[in-house]
Amino acid sequence: MFVSIEAILEETRRKNPKQPEFIQAVTEVFRSIEKVMDSFPDFIYHKILERMVEPERVIMFRVPWVDDNEQLQINRGFRVEMNSAIGPYKGGLRFHPSVNLSIMKFLGFEQTFKNSLTSLSLGGAKGGSDFDPKGKSDLEVMRFCQSFMSELYRHIGENTDVPAGDIGVGGREIGYLFGQYKRLRNQFSGAMTGKGTNWGGSFLRPEATGYGVVYYAARILENKGETFDGKTCLVSGSGNVAQYTVEKLNELGARVVTLSDSSGYIFDPEGIDAEKLKFVMELKNFRRGRIGEYKEKYPHAEYHHNPDVTNFNPLWNHKADYAFPCATENEINPKDAKNLVDNGIKMVVEGANMPTCEEGVDLFQEKGVLFGPAKAANAGGVAVSGLEMAQNGSRIPWSREKVDKELLKIMTRIHDMSLEYAERYSEPGNYLDGANIAGFLKVAQSMIDQGYV
Ligand code: NDP
Repeated sequence: MFVSIEAILEETRRKNPKQPEFIQAVTEVFRSIEKVMDSFPDFIYHKILERMVEPERVIMFRVPWVDDNEQLQINRGFRVEMNSAIGPYKGGLRFHPSVNLSIMKFLGFEQTFKNSLTSLSLGGAKGGSDFDPKGKSDLEVMRFCQSFMSELYRHIGENTDVPAGDIGVGGREIGYLFGQYKRLRNQFSGAMTGKGTNWGGSFLRPEATGYGVVYYAARILENKGETFDGKTCLVSGSGNVAQYTVEKLNELGARVVTLSDSSGYIFDPEGIDAEKLKFVMELKNFRRGRIGEYKEKYPHAEYHHNPDVTNFNPLWNHKADYAFPCATENEINPKDAKNLVDNGIKMVVEGANMPTCEEGVDLFQEKGVLFGPAKAANAGGVAVSGLEMAQNGSRIPWSREKVDKELLKIMTRIHDMSLEYAERYSEPGNYLDGANIAGFLKVAQSMIDQGYV
């Protein structure tokens, strides 16, 4: 019996009420997959789409911890093990007050296809908590991480599920989480990535997502006979992905004029050069301060308070050649997308996961803006996590140069594959369809091979 994609989407909406982010992610992928269904009738018979929207496992748990005032706090922990058709579950942990089941499922769903694009053997997962590390002492963060891992440890392992970082989970949190995992299991294994280089981490893992975004974008430009030299770029966020996106853009001769956090954004018309970036890294990674302090240090810059990016984000109203959203989902809403287009933006490459709303993506494509979708462009982080797993398995660390070379190779391959699949199944230059289709086909075919599990 033929079941249309629209009917499957309708059923997915019905079964997952109040999960708008998850539905948005599924809709975007299914719109691309619609274009290949005639070529793969088996997918209907084996109910691939219906199975893919159902996580293999969802773990939800209580995380009690005691704050510095000796008050008991209760948070909610999640691990969504979405799909293990092509390898052990792999995906980051996010600590942010907005975390809920919808966000976890959208991220796990996206991760499945992103991991497939890397060509490594990695399934898809995501996890986290509504815990907010902002304003917490190191000891509070440690107590939270230990309590979180006291439940999570029984569900993960180097051949089962390998978490890493995401928003709110950086080197400090990974350290506390890994320490507790090791203690509970009495085992030093590669069950987490993003570790410190002294204790099993890979060189270049912190840089990998941001560098990878720029490698992907550079390849798009190369294809058009363009370069970054002298080009003006808008970058949002000021965390891990944003910082190393700016570092690589600077290296390639671009001028980055914006950065942001959840309080507001800065505009520096002279460009955020290496010295200013060093200040931002120190501010965000060690002093855990706010981006507004940039203006105190560099008074010629502008600071605009803007705590709700999902409403309207004036950062995207500055004139530039290229834009790199690197903060959070749906930070480019329809009005922002229109502002970018009206100001003549030529390329948007997504560092964050699903940072562009559906209407924004449609508008970019309609207006011929080059568009690098997140699941392809930001796959460099998980790719180097995969390389970290390989290094852990052999207990032999690779040099920084070797990891960088592999990262560049992987990002180039993802770019070329997106382009090739777009041309074969959709339309030339449609990176969104190309990435969705290339990522999807490998997972779908593996699911058929492994029977109904
Ligand atoms: P970080 O926590 O290091 O940084 C996140 C940045 O985005 C911070 O500047 C933060 O502001 C800002 N931000 C977060 N939430 C919001 C919000 N609701 N509104 C406005 N600003 C916000 O996270 P990462 O850099 O690691 O992650 C950024 C994005 O990249 C996410 O979408 C993540 O899923 C994606 N990603 C990350 C990868 C990685 O390797 N880290 C890999 C692939 C994708 P503030 O400082 O105020 O919190």
